[in-house]
Amino acid sequence: MAETEHVHCLIIGSGPAGYTAAIYAARANLKPVLYQGLQPGGQLTITTDVENYPGYPDGIMGPQMMVDFEQQAQRMGADIRWGLATNVDLSARPYKVEIDEEKWITADSVIIATGASAKWLNIASEQRLNGHGVSACAVCDGFFFKEQEVAIVGAGDTACEEALYLSKLCSTVHMIVRRDEMRASKVMQARVLKTQNIKVYWNSETDEVLGAQKVEGVRIRDNKTGALTEIPVKAFFVAIGHEPNSKLFKGWLEMDEQGYLITQPGSSKTNIEGVFACGDVQDKIYRQAVTAAGSGCMAALDAERYLGSLEG
Ligand code: NDP
Repeated sequence: MAETEHVHCLIIGSGPAGYTAAIYAARANLKPVLYQGLQPGGQLTITTDVENYPGYPDGIMGPQMMVDFEQQAQRMGADIRWGLATNVDLSARPYKVEIDEEKWITADSVIIATGASAKWLNIASEQRLNGHGVSACAVCDGFFFKEQEVAIVGAGDTACEEALYLSKLCSTVHMIVRRDEMRASKVMQARVLKTQNIKVYWNSETDEVLGAQKVEGVRIRDNKTGALTEIPVKAFFVAIGHEPNSKLFKGWLEMDEQGYLITQPGSSKTNIEGVFACGDVQDKIYRQAVTAAGSGCMAALDAERYLGSLEG
């Protein structure tokens, strides 16, 4: 092994879960070291205004909120570092985590807060207009399109849930479904189909998101007939699933069939003692900044108890 360093509490990931874990761990004198990963601040750094995080009466920009979290963690004494976890060995304590393929950290406890990434269609116009009407989070951004027409792509439970959410805010929700049926649970489908202002386009794929500076419409293609239709909308929501950032832990930690880490109910404990998970990497239901932060707090408290029991 090349260079090594030993830490008491290692946190991997820097969204609301990781930073909150760092704040609590630092205040408990666990001397946490946090590696930020590829996208310091996580998914919030690609959103604009956050208006549903308590404590910010005027709202806050997602990237600024993550700077605030980071500074608070630093002020408490957390050691925040650039660097990406590239390999792990969780066979025995101290656990080993490789950083940037060049250095190994050994740790008495590990808190995993690597988050999840929204899946995108990967068409150029979607990427270009991201943050300018293109969003992967209706709960975050739907509010900005009150009384307006919007589109959403996807047909799983998330897409249905988000379409229903949007239907309460927006005048019309155009839902683009690539097959002639939905993947979502029957009850969710039924709710969508009986909602007056959700219009479903079956067998339809997104050809292009339209607009120069911001979203002005979407062009869809009927994949049976090839017919193209343009729908004027002010926002385009992508709800085709998320990918938990858990590949690194495959073979070590229990995960469900989609790769979400499994934690014991009511705790952040994984199947390995001393290894904890929080935030979106273990949550496919709520996925909110505030729930991620709450679970980061749980992970730090669980780590504190665990480390205390070792000393005891
Ligand atoms: P899913 O993987 O279940 O669904 C993804 C949807 O997106 C599918 O309808 C899929 O179409 C569609 N899709 C994928 N790629 C494309 C593409 N390139 N173009 C167009 N459409 C595409 O993801 P979800 O996020 O909806 O759900 C993930 C898990 O979380 C599920 O197990 C779900 O049940 C669960 N969940 C539960 C909730 C709850 O209980 N309240 C709420 C939200 C999620 P196709 O069907 O054709 O493959």
